[in-house]
Amino acid sequence: MIEIITKKEPPQELTRVVNQDLADITTVEHITFDAFHLEEGVLGGFDPRDKLIVIDLGHCLTNTLFMKKGMMHIPGVWFNMLWALYHEIAHAIQVEGKPELADSKRPSDELENEAQSFTEESIVEWAENNKIPTLEEMGWAGEQLRFAVNITYPQSMGQNLLSEIDALNNGGIGLLDTIVAHHPKVSMIEHKGLCELIDKGEQGVIVNNQRYMDTKGFFSID
Ligand SMILES: [Zn+2]
Repeated sequence: MIEIITKKEPPQELTRVVNQDLADITTVEHITFDAFHLEEGVLGGFDPRDKLIVIDLGHCLTNTLFMKKGMMHIPGVWFNMLWALYHEIAHAIQVEGKPELADSKRPSDELENEAQSFTEESIVEWAENNKIPTLEEMGWAGEQLRFAVNITYPQSMGQNLLSEIDALNNGGIGLLDTIVAHHPKVSMIEHKGLCELIDKGEQGVIVNNQRYMDTKGFFSID
C-alpha cells in the first residue's frame, strides 16, 4: 500500500489514479503532494533511493505549457497534474525493469522520450474512461483557480468562464481555432479536416456553436 503524504490537497481523482496505477509498482512506496517545493518550473520528481514520488501542485498550477498550445485554463492545470504523475510513474517503471538506473543522476534522453510517450498514451487512455474534475473536486489547485477566476472575472463569473465550463462539461478542452493557431505545423487543409471530424462527433464537440477539441483530439495533433 502506497503512503500518500498530503502537504497540499490533491484532486481526489489524482489520488484514485495513484492507488490504482502505483499499487503494483515496487519502486515507489511514498508520494508527496506539495506546492512550490521543487526547483523552479519542475512539476514532479522521483527518487528511487527513497522510493518517493513528489508532485508539485504549485508548479502544476502556474505552468502554462498546455495553455500555450491552446488548451483552456482549468484543463491546463488538471493535465499538468496528471502529466506530472504519469511521467514519474513512467520513471518508476523504468527503474523497476532496470534497477541499475537508480544509480544514474538523471534519466537519459532516450528514457525521457520513452516516459513522454508513456505519459501521453496514459492520458489519452485516462480520458476515454474518466471526466476532468470540476474546480470543486480539484483540491488545493481548484481553490487557487477559483481565487484567480474571481480576480480575472470580477463581475461574478464572466462569459468566458461560463463557456469554458460548458465546454468542459461536454468534454471539450480547448477551442479548435485557438488550438490550431498555437500549432503552426497544422495546415489549412488539416484544419478543415479537423472541423469535419468534430462535426461528425469525433475528436471534439460543438458547444454553443463553437468547435472544441476533446482530450484525444488535443493530444493527437502536434
Ligand atoms: Zn523525466
